[in-house]
Amino acid sequence: MPEPDWKFYVNELMSDECACGRPKKPKFSFCYLCYRKLPHDMRRALYRRTHEGYEAAYDAAYAYLSESGGYDGDTGI
Ligand SMILES: [Zn+2]
Repeated sequence: MPEPDWKFYVNELMSDECACGRPKKPKFSFCYLCYRKLPHDMRRALYRRTHEGYEAAYDAAYAYLSESGGYDGDTGI
């Protein structure tokens, strides 16, 4: 049986490396710099639990950060 998808999100959450490659604290979805770039609504959505909307919130935040150039180097923010 394949691993359920939510395990990916739990692993991301508990890791000490942000999707951008900077260090982050376990139990936080993103590092502080990425988190600061997110709109208020997206930050709040990341406090949902897995199975209760967290997966979609993480995907939305990740897409937002990717599109805003957050993973293309330091934007000076
Ligand atoms: Zn980051």
